[in-house]
Parts: sequence; structure tokens; C-alpha cells
Amino acid sequence: MSIDARSRAWVEVDTRALRANYDTLRGRVGPAPALIPMVKADGYGLGVERVVGTLEPLNPWGYGVATVDEGRRLRRLGVERPVLVFSPMPPQAVQAAAAAGLTACVSDLDALARWAEAAGADAPLDFHVEVDTGMGRAGFDWRAAEEWGEGVRRFTGPALRWTGIFTHFHGADSPDPAPTTEQWRRFRDALERLPVDADARMLHAANSAAALRWPEYALDAVRPGIYLYGGHPATALGPDAVPPPRPVVAVRARLAHVKMVPPGHTVGYGARYTAGTRERWGTIDIGYGDGLPRLLGNRGSALVRGREVPMIGRISMDMTVIDLSDSPETAVGDVVTLIGRDGDAEITVEQVAALADTISYEVLTGLTNRLPRVEREAHGGD
Ligand SMILES: *Cc1c(COP(=O)(O)O)cnc(C)c1O
Repeated sequence: MSIDARSRAWVEVDTRALRANYDTLRGRVGPAPALIPMVKADGYGLGVERVVGTLEPLNPWGYGVATVDEGRRLRRLGVERPVLVFSPMPPQAVQAAAAAGLTACVSDLDALARWAEAAGADAPLDFHVEVDTGMGRAGFDWRAAEEWGEGVRRFTGPALRWTGIFTHFHGADSPDPAPTTEQWRRFRDALERLPVDADARMLHAANSAAALRWPEYALDAVRPGIYLYGGHPATALGPDAVPPPRPVVAVRARLAHVKMVPPGHTVGYGARYTAGTRERWGTIDIGYGDGLPRLLGNRGSALVRGREVPMIGRISMDMTVIDLSDSPETAVGDVVTLIGRDGDAEITVEQVAALADTISYEVLTGLTNRLPRVEREAHGGD
């Protein structure tokens, strides 16, 4: 018998909001481009099984992952659509990728040679070519498209199908559009110099931020990630520069212990907070071992019974203390919200990321396995 997933601390996923964000994105780019949801890193930490179960009925063209293991997981879940492995594949992973019928994203001719070796006449393999237009971490150099284009073309045949070409923007979330415009120009330039008909292949470039800001860069497909999961893809632009996503993720924990402390009492490693008066403190069973960023200690807040209360002292691996002096009605067993809504109060993943000096992506993917992922229970009216 397993205990209730909501007994200690948990991640709540609002699948209706996930669907709504997908629909908003679809509306923005129009009906033509294929959607390739990025479900790497366990669906950005939400739990890939629930993410894929939610997206499958919406009929995306395929999915994007980072690793071969992530792709195999999708196959085990029954996904038959194309699955693109976006990170360069280590040679040791190639056989498994081929056996699972994944699509490789290729950044050099040696990698393509390994992919060709894994392809059999009876089981053809597909690949997309990445063009490096400034991201630098992967892809063929946009300047040398004639040369590598010829090399790639020679490998291509019935057993090895060159089905796509893409690039990746490094600054689509930045207020300055110039770097993205320049990457776009380089990509188009490389495509023109290829010794093959680029337009006969699936062309793609846009992540969430690019797809929402510049639907004209959507080409044949877009690759949204963070927006689907309720992360604002371009916070530096202000909240309304793109249609704001509906929040998808909440992180909650139970209030497990409450006590009154006298002035001068201290809390947490390093005793970084001292009670100024007689105070009421609450301990919640969640800490950095669950992925709650340690930088929130003495800076972050939580919601309980619809009210915001401060975190006090350093965050421990397993516990965090909140000051409940102004919330005397609270009681052991109450639900405390670290990310998400409680009544009219809300803590967004962006607010947490800012306090933790990072981005929403890292907050979400940092939530550890100790937190069960549960589906948000339907609430009437919203
Ligand atoms: C992760 C990733 C994306 C998705 O980016 P978001 O900013 O989350 O929308 C798109 N393309 C590639 C190649 C990626 O690695």
C-alpha cells in the first residue's frame, strides 16, 4: 500500500492549462506549421508520462527529446510519432537510438557516418541536420554549407533519409531582436547555398519565445517547450509582450509542525534568522533535496490559507521554516504553496526563479523525484 501522494509535498500539474497553452501557441503560428513539443528532462520536470498523455490527443507531429533514453521512454509509452533527439548523440548511444526508430539530429559528418552504419535496408533511419548560426554548442557551421551539404548529400539514400534542417536561436527571449534577425539571415543564407533542395525538407528554427514573437519564423515546424509548461518565455520583454501562459505547475507541502518561540530564538543552519519578538513558526516538509532552491532562504515566501508568509532562515535539505506570526488561524496539516495559486494569492515560477538567481527552466527541471507528480483536481468555475 502506498501512501497518499499529497501527504507530505508534491508537484501538481494542471493538464487543462497545458492543453490551453498548446492551443494558444497553435493559434499564434496558425494551422500550417507542425508542432514538436519538447518533452526532454522528464517533460521539463512535470513528468513526461502525464505530459505526453495530455498532448497525444492534440495530435502533435512528433516530440523532441535530448537523450536516447528519453526517446526510448516515449516508445515504451506507445508513442509512434517521430521522436527527434536534439543533443549530439554519443557513439555509445547510436545503436539503441536506431533500434528505437528515433530521428537523429546531426552536427558533423562523423556522426552521420555512425548513423549510416546503424541503418539497415529494411529499417531506414531519418535524420535532421542542425545548422550552427551562433548557438555554438551543436550544428554544422552556417558559413560552410556548400561543403558539408555535399558530404551530407552523399550519405543520403533510401536507408538514410535526410528529412529536416534546423537551427536554434540563442536570444529569442531578449529585448533586442537583432541577434535573432541575424541568425535567421544566416540560416536562410546557408539553406540557399546547400547543394540540395532545402525546401523539400522540414525546416524549423523557433522555440517558444521565437514562435510567439515572430510567427513568421515558424517555417514548417516549431519546437515549444517552456511555454507549454506555463513558463513565461520572455520575461525581459514584460509580462504582456506575448500572450501569457496559463500556469501549469504548483508545488505544495504540508505544514508539519508549529511552535511559538521567544525573542532571540534562532532557526536553521548558521542561525541566519532570529526572532525579534514572540513569534509563531511553522515547519514544512520540503527542502533543497526536493528541488526548492536554497537561495530562497530568508528571501522567498509561501502561501497558506490564501496569504503570503515569509520563509525564515536557511532552507535545509528536507525542511523549510515559515513565519506564521500573522496567520494564527493556520494549523498543522494545512497545505502550503511554494509555487502556484492559493485563493487570490500567487507565487509564479518566474518569481521563484528571480529570487533564486536562475530561470524558470532550472526551477522546474530541478524538482526532484522525491516529489510525487499529481494531477490538479478539477475546480469548479475555472
Ligand atoms: C529545449 C529546446 C527547445 C525548447 O525551448 P523553449 O525555450 O523551452 O521553448 C527548442 N529547440 C531546441 C533545440 C531545444 O533544445
